[in-house]
Amino acid sequence: MNEESNRKDVIIVGGGIAGLTAAMHTSLMSLNSVIIEKSPYMGQIPESILRKNYPGLRNIKGGDLARDIEAQAKRDFSVDIKREEVIDVVMDRTAIPYRFLVKTDYGHYLSKALILATGSRPRHLNVEGTSLDGATYHPVYDSQEFNGKDVVIVGARDPSIQFACWLRGKARSVTLVEEAGTPPASPMSLNDLNDIMKKRAVPVKLFTKHTVEALRGSERVEKVAVRNIETGEKSEIPAGAVIISIGRIPNSKLAEKLGCEIDKNGFVVVNREQKTALDGVFAAGDVAGIVFNAIKSAGEGCVAGLKAAEYLKTGLW
Ligand SMILES: Cc1cc2nc3c(=O)[nH]c(=O)nc-3n(C[C@H](O)[C@H](O)[C@H](O)COP(=O)(O)OP(=O)(O)OC[C@H]3O[C@@H](n4cnc5c(N)ncnc54)[C@H](O)[C@@H]3O)c2cc1C
Repeated sequence: MNEESNRKDVIIVGGGIAGLTAAMHTSLMSLNSVIIEKSPYMGQIPESILRKNYPGLRNIKGGDLARDIEAQAKRDFSVDIKREEVIDVVMDRTAIPYRFLVKTDYGHYLSKALILATGSRPRHLNVEGTSLDGATYHPVYDSQEFNGKDVVIVGARDPSIQFACWLRGKARSVTLVEEAGTPPASPMSLNDLNDIMKKRAVPVKLFTKHTVEALRGSERVEKVAVRNIETGEKSEIPAGAVIISIGRIPNSKLAEKLGCEIDKNGFVVVNREQKTALDGVFAAGDVAGIVFNAIKSAGEGCVAGLKAAEYLKTGLW
């Protein structure tokens, strides 16, 4: 890598909606920035389907929204995206102006400011059998994988209910298994769930106060073993496929290693300007916590991009 081309005003780690929006705003301010994204996708957006709450867009498929945002970022803002994994970030206060050394699996970059938009990952279900074929944390919406199958969804939060609604007319049956007494989902999602249960376009069962003890099968998942938390009664639910959706964990390891303050839930602590406790380091999106939400992530990406520009303009760094 040529030394000049790897020197940036701002490096944005993560190319989800927070990182892409941050990059659009650093470009708006004529900064020389780059997104470093480890996967071929743009974060979690492609995994969702019913984005009822996205202003101005109704029922757009996450994959389409992600493609549109990426195309807009490249076309209208010339956003540069490198498909590399950031493995370490080192800050050297004495190295002026390129204070941050960002090491990737391919090489390294130097920057004056840093925006961490590393998002979150699915919380793992710690039981036997989660690596069996047919069990997934990342269902692909356009696949035929679930057609005609008995699908068990572990968890009954909003994303689980999105999955259940999407499986209408595809799966043979859908069973949601939830530890809480009432699904921890928004009232609107609960209405959607009641609606599909009433219309019976697909038979939907909801097991509340049940915990999953194991996924069973030889190579492919065949059954989900559950236990009623109140009575202790055990049973098995037939399953041709299992979707695990029991919440998310922030990807804050890099931030932690760099020395950012991390709260008790693992989120990077930021102020209203998306600044972390370290000068020149901003964080946006799921990694900065509060709620896991696409609009909030985009908003924070915008603030981080603009505030990074302001920070560089002060010359105080
Ligand atoms: C199934 C599902 C349904 C959802 N439905 C809705 C909804 O209806 N409405 C709503 O508002 N929100 C919804 N959300 C939440 C919303 O999608 C997220 O809050 C939002 O996409 C988070 O964006 P982000 O950019 O902060 O993080 P992410 O999208 O997680 O992006 C972070 C990116 O950083 C990359 N990365 C991480 N570490 C590194 C590294 N070391 N090097 C390089 N790259 C790295 C990751 O590969 C990833 O692409 C849903 C989420 C899911 C999973």
